[in-house]
This record gives sequence, structure tokens and C-alpha cells, in this order.
Amino acid sequence: MRLILLGPPGCGKGTQAKMLCRDARAEHVGTGDLLRDAIRRETSAGIEARREVDAGHLVPDEVVNLLIGERFGRGDRPSRFVMDGYPRTLPQAHAFDSILSGVGMALDGVVMMQVRDELIVNRVSGRWSCPKLGCKATYHIDSNPPARPGFCTDCGTGLVQRADDAPATVGERLVIYHRDTEPLVPHYEKAGILIRVDGEGDIGVVGLAIRQALATRGLL
Ligand code: AMP
Repeated sequence: MRLILLGPPGCGKGTQAKMLCRDARAEHVGTGDLLRDAIRRETSAGIEARREVDAGHLVPDEVVNLLIGERFGRGDRPSRFVMDGYPRTLPQAHAFDSILSGVGMALDGVVMMQVRDELIVNRVSGRWSCPKLGCKATYHIDSNPPARPGFCTDCGTGLVQRADDAPATVGERLVIYHRDTEPLVPHYEKAGILIRVDGEGDIGVVGLAIRQALATRGLL
């Protein structure tokens, strides 16, 4: 399974990517998580990315392409993976195409999770995540609450809200999504690997829709 999950901020890509990876024994590759880890560890990529990430702007293509190029250039590169949040621009999509072909891999599918803009602000403003390195758990106060309010169910760490999930920043992230990321839809449609899924139901319903779409195409 070699997939990209595509969709607006807060559509549930991260949650679905984690569930799919757990079931299909694939690696979850999330550039948002990689960048937030780099920021916490204050690496050079993290220092370069911090301001853009907090403001909800895209980090320069070269920075994320380098992170992904490094991950797929290593001997222990994932042979089965779900990309969450990468690629996000056409130059990134072209870079990823050549990173993969350089190591003899090809994408099986690109799942486009469709969620209307008006639902996004509520989804994002109720989102809490675990700041512990390597944990990556995320919650939503209504649709996916932690067992103990305010604390990660997996590791017990106090949950935090992301700076870029503030309502004022979410509007800007949507503008950026429509301008920079949506052009990937015709790119992957032309390649014949785009799979559209309704992303507006609850987590279980959307997860089922994704699985069914993948199974129909023999990808699961
Ligand atoms: P996410 O967790 O996927 O919502 O990503 C959080 C933030 O990380 C984004 O708003 C961007 O600032 C940055 N980011 C993540 N992935 C990318 C990417 N592929 N290209 C540029 N910036 C990214």
C-alpha cells in the first residue's frame, strides 16, 4: 500500500492515516508531525520552519522535499506508506514523483477526503493533540474525546492546542489549501490514481468509506 491522503486542514487525514497504517502495517509519514518534531528539537529545518508553521503558512518546498528525500533515501525507507500532509503543492508532487521513481516505487492511490469549508473551522477548533515526541495522538472534544479530559489516552501527557488551529489562522490555511494544494487533484486524476471519498461523516464512517474504496481497487 503506497498512498497519499489529500484534503483540507482538519479533514481528518492524520486520524485516518494512523488507522490505515495500523491495520495495513504501513508507515505513517506526516510532514506536519515531522516539522513539529524538528521545531521542538530545534534542528535547522525546525528553526527555518517555526514561523511558517505557527502562522499556518506553507514551509518552503525545498525544506519539506529535503525531509522526505532523506526519509526515502535511507536504506530503511518505508516500502508501504501513507503520506499525510505531503505533497501539498505541485512542485512537491513533482519532487515526490521523482523521489519515488528514483527508488523504484510508484504510488498506488491518492485518497481525496472531501469536506466543505464551513465544517472545517469547527473541526479544527475542537482539536487537541499530544505534544509528547513520538506519540502523535490527536483528539476532538466532540467526535473523538480523550478518556480523561485534557490528557492523552495513550500516554497520559497533558494535551495542547496547536497555534495554527486558532480560528483566525484556519481561514488562511483554507485559502492556501484551495490555491496551492487543490491543483494536485487534476495532477493525480490525470495519472489515473485519484480516489474521491466523502470525508464529512464521523471517523468510523469515513474510515469505512476509505477502506471500501481501496478494497474495490484491490489496494487493501
Ligand atoms: P499539518 O499537521 O499537516 O496540518 O501541517 C501543519 C503545518 O506544517 C502546515 O500548516 C505547514 O505550515 C507545515 N507543513 C506540513 N506539511 C507541509 C508541506 N507538505 N509543505 C509545506 N508546509 C507543510
